[in-house]
Amino acid sequence: MKFGTKAIHAGVKPDPATGAIMTPIYQTSTYVQEAIGVNKGYAYSRSGNPTRNALENSIAALENGSYGACFGSGMAAIDCVLKMLKPEDEVISTDDLYGGSYRIFKTIFEKYGIKFHYVNMLDVKQVESKINQNTKLIWVETPTNPMMNIIDIKAIAKLCKNKKIILAVDNTFATPYLQKPLELGADIVMHSVTKYLGGHSDVVMGALVTKNDDIAKEMYHIQNASGAVTAPMDSFLVLRGIKTLHLRMQRHCENGAKIAAFLNEHPKVENVYWPGLKTHKNHLIAKEQMSNFGGMISFSLKGNNIEDAKKIVTSTKYFVLAESLGGVESLIGHPATMTHASIPKNVREKSGIVDSLIRLSVGVEDVTDLIEDLNNALKA
Ligand SMILES: *Cc1c(COP(=O)(O)O)cnc(C)c1O
Repeated sequence: MKFGTKAIHAGVKPDPATGAIMTPIYQTSTYVQEAIGVNKGYAYSRSGNPTRNALENSIAALENGSYGACFGSGMAAIDCVLKMLKPEDEVISTDDLYGGSYRIFKTIFEKYGIKFHYVNMLDVKQVESKINQNTKLIWVETPTNPMMNIIDIKAIAKLCKNKKIILAVDNTFATPYLQKPLELGADIVMHSVTKYLGGHSDVVMGALVTKNDDIAKEMYHIQNASGAVTAPMDSFLVLRGIKTLHLRMQRHCENGAKIAAFLNEHPKVENVYWPGLKTHKNHLIAKEQMSNFGGMISFSLKGNNIEDAKKIVTSTKYFVLAESLGGVESLIGHPATMTHASIPKNVREKSGIVDSLIRLSVGVEDVTDLIEDLNNALKA
């Protein structure tokens, strides 16, 4: 089955009770048992719910995995992976990480005796240099936020081979439409479903996918034991969102390409960070491991004036000022004062997050309107 067909059909079947084509919202906490221990496969909705299970199977199929698990947020999904570890285990991660991931590593799991190393994963040797007997998890995020760095998943997977190291990839920015980490050698794929998979800015949710039986066992054990599951209504909304994932992503990519080209030519723009541009420093790896380049773009301004950037992000009409990404509507943000405000200026600037950097989540509107919007804002 090809991707678009999977997006519509995988994991879902007509409701056995009525034939309803859409998976019903099984808004129930428990299930009546015919006799003690005799049920229809469901006993309690923390352990299993038909709407959630349909979604879990759908996401697993999209990633070409065998097992999916959905959680109350992306962070709850990350929490589940970290709970597979024990004290003294070591984790290697990128130094250019989603802020929430860094926060849960640093403020929650360090307390439990897990040691984290942060390296520049663009240089695979740096990853290799941190591997030792205690290394149990390598956490990759690619493309990264907001600099759109592309980490070579295959090269990192090679380092994990025969070492009992779990390789997990946060695939939120790319989605399985653009990148399939399990096929590149990863053991676990993680999603903030909140973003592109949901796609309509109306749900907060996370997911994990694996094809490894042992990891799956542990994942479902933690999902049930810790209990950070997602709700039936939210599962229904995401099942609905996923049916158009391939169509939305196609448009995100088309719009992304046109806007990146527009910005690249604009006299007030200094640098454009979009992995589809030939001038992007990781363009070749992006071309190798992604099927297209998505709708996330960052750019900086000539003169690097913070006031200019603030003026632009508050004067666009269709690009609205907001956190988050991946919805059908276009968003604009200013990393230095929003998502990355807690990082000291000198550290931030070293990774390219300068005062004038602006991040776009390009939606699926008509691109001529979006370009006109940016053009007007850049003129002001
Ligand atoms: C948003 C995001 C998360 C966290 O997901 P939530 O659904 O907000 O908990 C993790 N990783 C990346 C790359 C994200 O963009």
